[in-house]
Amino acid sequence: MAKCPFCKLEVKLTELHTDKKGVGFVKQEIMYSCPHCQSILGISRGKWTS
Ligand SMILES: [Zn+2]
Repeated sequence: MAKCPFCKLEVKLTELHTDKKGVGFVKQEIMYSCPHCQSILGISRGKWTS
């Protein structure tokens, strides 16, 4: 179980807010934000096949 470093609330991976943005279908950035305080927890870059 992960905790948000900002609001100290538990964050489940399934509850993470994700925000995809990118140009085209090859390059994508996915932003993960806390569902409680909306703080940005991380950004993934890369090709996602899901
Ligand atoms: Zn938070």
